[in-house]
Amino acid sequence: MRDYVVKALAYDGNIRVQAICSTNMVGEAQRRHDTWATASAALGRVMTAATMLAVQLKGEDQLTVTIEGGGPIGAIVVDANAHGDTRGYLSNPHVHFELNKWGKLDVARAVGTEGNLSVIKDLGLKENFTGSVPLVSGEIGDDFTYYLAHSEQVPSAVGVGVLVNPDHSIKASGGFLIQLLPGAPDGVIVQVEKRLSEISNVSQMIDQGLSPEEMLIAIFGEDNVQFLETEDVQFQCRCSREAISNAIVGLGKEEIEAMITEDKGAEATCHFCNEIYQFSEQELRELYQSLIDES
Ligand code: ZN
Repeated sequence: MRDYVVKALAYDGNIRVQAICSTNMVGEAQRRHDTWATASAALGRVMTAATMLAVQLKGEDQLTVTIEGGGPIGAIVVDANAHGDTRGYLSNPHVHFELNKWGKLDVARAVGTEGNLSVIKDLGLKENFTGSVPLVSGEIGDDFTYYLAHSEQVPSAVGVGVLVNPDHSIKASGGFLIQLLPGAPDGVIVQVEKRLSEISNVSQMIDQGLSPEEMLIAIFGEDNVQFLETEDVQFQCRCSREAISNAIVGLGKEEIEAMITEDKGAEATCHFCNEIYQFSEQELRELYQSLIDES
């Protein structure tokens, strides 16, 4: 299955819903960062939820989600934009624990529960929108649900799940986002809560290989969903050799001189995608020269 988000309305347009398949996106993150199973699930759940929030944005708008829960994986940082391009990393990728008492990857233990979930939205305005809430569970889905209700004041339900193979590769990843639109009648709210309490959990739906459309039908029933559009999503980093070159130039003459004479070259790694950029002594000399020419 390719990675994509489906957007839909449910219950006569009273509820805005999305479901996503993010298996390849999270798989790419797992390979690039060599995350172990519990860390993969944590990073993958955040990437999956952040992607669903980001595809609600428009044009070149983007958002950054940061979760710091005091657990062994450290901080999780995920960038996502309106085009479905998502990238992310965490401080310590080599974290794995025994399954928890429900037989699930113990994401809350890896993330920690003492900290915050923060979202910065760059909407092309002078000031970025920022929202932050304390973590309520460290399991990610519930934390996004709490964030949306308390920081964005939209009653929501977020379900995200990542399944990992024994060799640490990603078996499947996906989720759903349900948001109540203003004026939704109480009767609809009650029905949605009932449906949510009855459905199998998101990991099971993903494990069964349900497509995003099938996931929404499983939650609401075929007659209650009106599909709108789909959007392809992918792991995509914005780093480039040019940007790293500019950063090196920004360090100034003395720094570059030291790299040339002491290190005989330079190496920079992009946090988000783990791509390594190497610069030879000769290339550094050219950057140095460009600084001289400018001045
Ligand atoms: Zn990168």
